[in-house]
Amino acid sequence: MSLFQQAVFLTTVAHLRDLPQDSVREIAFAGRSNAGKSSAINSLAGRTRLAYVSKTPGRTQHLNYFTLADGKYFVDLPGYGYAKAPEAIRSQWEGLIGPYLSKREQLAGLVVIMDIRRPLTDLDLRLIDWFRPTGRPLHVLLSKADKLSRQEQTKTLRSVKAELATWGDAASYSVQLFSSLKKTGVDEAEAVLAGWLDMEKKMPENKRPPDKGGPGAKMP
Ligand code: GDP
Repeated sequence: MSLFQQAVFLTTVAHLRDLPQDSVREIAFAGRSNAGKSSAINSLAGRTRLAYVSKTPGRTQHLNYFTLADGKYFVDLPGYGYAKAPEAIRSQWEGLIGPYLSKREQLAGLVVIMDIRRPLTDLDLRLIDWFRPTGRPLHVLLSKADKLSRQEQTKTLRSVKAELATWGDAASYSVQLFSSLKKTGVDEAEAVLAGWLDMEKKMPENKRPPDKGGPGAKMP
């Protein structure tokens, strides 16, 4: 059974104060509007409509929480960039998404979905800037890989890899090809995300981050 296959919608969070207060580990998905984020989540879940919950009125600008089979969470962040003024994006990021990405203790890693034909846009980089100081891992899905030839796919993968390598700690930044249409890259993505959620178990005692509190612990 794959990690995402029994995922169910949990709740929509519009304010930091409404984030789940338990200490469950979670993974967040971000990307420009139309990058293929919902399709990627649906492909991981093996379902056609799971992530469309996040696209229903009243939910598109908020954090949408889903529960995975083993009780952990994944969080679908609002898509950015599409027909939105820079000030609107800035205020959204400063109010909710930025503080979430930079301070959420439970966040084990961030997946950023980028259309393979337009990877690493300015907005992607600005979003990633909120998250990088946490030192937690980032995984890029180069979505809609089917839109390019094999050769072009490899070329883009290589150049994004090279760019990420300039950011420092190689273990923290990874990238892969993904196509929801062809269902390619699903197993690879799942292995990375399962690794993140399981990290606590794999981490030796003395390497564990300090315990910031058990159930009920609040965000700093
Ligand atoms: P979101 O706004 O990031 O959630 O993007 P969606 O998942 O809604 O996808 C946006 C558009 O891209 C839709 O028309 C999808 O059908 C299309 N799309 C998404 N993933 C793929 C893919 O892997 N291949 C192709 N060819 N089209 C895709």
